[in-house]
Amino acid sequence: MSFIVAIDGPAGAGKGTITKLVGDKLNLVNIDTGATFRCVALCMLRENIKIQEEDKIEDMLNKINIEMRPNDEIFLNGENVTKRIRENDVNDFVSPISTIPVVRNKLLNLQRNIAKGQNIIMEGRDIGTVVFPNADVKIYLDATPEERARRRILQNKEKGIDVTYEEVLENIKDRDKRDSTRKVAPLKRAEDAIYLDSTNLNIEQVVDKIIKIIEEKRK
Ligand code: C5P
Repeated sequence: MSFIVAIDGPAGAGKGTITKLVGDKLNLVNIDTGATFRCVALCMLRENIKIQEEDKIEDMLNKINIEMRPNDEIFLNGENVTKRIRENDVNDFVSPISTIPVVRNKLLNLQRNIAKGQNIIMEGRDIGTVVFPNADVKIYLDATPEERARRRILQNKEKGIDVTYEEVLENIKDRDKRDSTRKVAPLKRAEDAIYLDSTNLNIEQVVDKIIKIIEEKRK
């Protein structure tokens, strides 16, 4: 039986950083589902496929190969796209493409398959509500849009990506709106998820809180 920890929340809440640290400390396999949507978005941008071109999207999804390799590297059809999928064109395109039902279905299967037989910590928007409604631990990680924009800027700087605070804040607010109002698998807190507001907490404090919650559940 696998043990599943679901971490959901809006863009920039710290899910990526926190999931990695908690996963490393507790020996849970870390799965970033946002990266899978980003790979689909990048593929569509490159092949110039529009959102309404369902047949082309299905063809592309039948051929696509997404791998999560050690060190959190993401490979799309054999190419390392770890950095490329964080750039602005993908940021802007990913939220609309994540509302397409065939895309969600394909990635839902992929996400469930990756998890089989493993103890995992998976981050996304609908992990506790749709992908693993029976997850052992569900956390909804939140922070104010301004704090999330500030964190994204720092993260982007480390990766050598240059964008302004205003651009990031606007993108975050846009994505929040789209992610929480869409009809298919909207971003929302599962009823049984623990709500954690990290606006005034540092990374270690959030990690400690989540580890305590998981350890309590594992007893
Ligand atoms: O977490 P990240 O910012 O990389 O996610 C990129 C986008 O992918 C989100 O804005 C959201 O639209 C979509 N997404 C989703 N469901 C998930 C993970 C991400 O719809 N489980």
